[in-house]
Amino acid sequence: MSWSGMRGISPIPSYVVLQPTTLCNLDCTYCYLPFRARNDRMSPAVAEAVAASVNPWAAADERFSVVWHAGEPLAAGRAALAELMAPFEGVEHHVQTNATLIDDAWCEFFAEHRMRVSVSVDGPEPLNGERVNRAGLPAYRHILSGVEALKRHGVPFSALCVVSDPGPGLATRLYDYFLDLGCDVLGINIEEQEGVNARTNDFGADAVRSFWAELVTAWRRDPRIHVREIEWTLRYAGAVLAGGADGILPAALDPIPTVATDGRVFLLSPELAGFTDARYGDFSSGNVLDTPLATILAGAATSAGWVPEYLRGVEACRQRCPYFGFCGGAHAANRYFEHGRFDTTETNHCRNSKIRLLEGVLDHAGAR
Ligand code: SF4
Repeated sequence: MSWSGMRGISPIPSYVVLQPTTLCNLDCTYCYLPFRARNDRMSPAVAEAVAASVNPWAAADERFSVVWHAGEPLAAGRAALAELMAPFEGVEHHVQTNATLIDDAWCEFFAEHRMRVSVSVDGPEPLNGERVNRAGLPAYRHILSGVEALKRHGVPFSALCVVSDPGPGLATRLYDYFLDLGCDVLGINIEEQEGVNARTNDFGADAVRSFWAELVTAWRRDPRIHVREIEWTLRYAGAVLAGGADGILPAALDPIPTVATDGRVFLLSPELAGFTDARYGDFSSGNVLDTPLATILAGAATSAGWVPEYLRGVEACRQRCPYFGFCGGAHAANRYFEHGRFDTTETNHCRNSKIRLLEGVLDHAGAR
């Protein structure tokens, strides 16, 4: 599991994240977003400025994604979202949504714009206790009503599930649920301590490792769903067995620019948007209303004070961590929100979602 070579930041991303509104109509207890009760809107000028850099990248690449996220994008409304999407050419639009606002009209919108939809839902109704509205009432029935609309219209969808209490039996229960739900791709996020969510994410090594191993067992019984974490892991294990594990990490880090409603750009971790710190300022790397996104990314490595510190942390990971070839250094925001700085290495997030994931899959295969 070795990997060699310093990692810099690619000047061209594989996707961009855009925040059409800060508002979310839900108030999930584990949410990281600081301004989800506020309704700051992205202006068409911001979207046009982003598109000026994105369109040439999309023309040069057969697949370039624009992801509408970081609030509840559907809360912006169809007319506003369509206006923001209009300047983009040759891109694949994605939306990460809580699904509660999806109705027939939204399904027609998704089909018309060939938009890929990802729904946030945490499994069967009793497991959705964290997903509540502003009155603290469960959102599950509204989530399900949105999913039923997608199915009625034949709109394919992915699901994103947050796991807050990994225990025996949960992975099987979740996998069976998502098979019934009808999603084609499933991503599992073990709850993260980040943003305004200060709850601990130390769930214990054995519990998390067993959760992943059990998920692989459930998936192998009926592998109709692409499970994001299992596919990453099997791709890595296959590369190691073929003697080519060095090749699975891209040569440079994907900058994953997130553009906030006001045009500010946050690199590497959307979760840093909206926070300030005496040492790091507002974490932004520039504003697309002043500077082209392509120019901001060309200087990404020094574009904000925290970025060089993060790159030192990734280099420390590369030198010390046997899981680096699989993980690549994980996300900047987890280091900051768990340790208050970026040049550290292990976090509970990387233990839960990288180290225990790989160990769990290897345990399932009897390879450890
Ligand atoms: S983030 Fe964690 S798992 Fe990833 S390389 Fe660093 S120490 Fe290893």
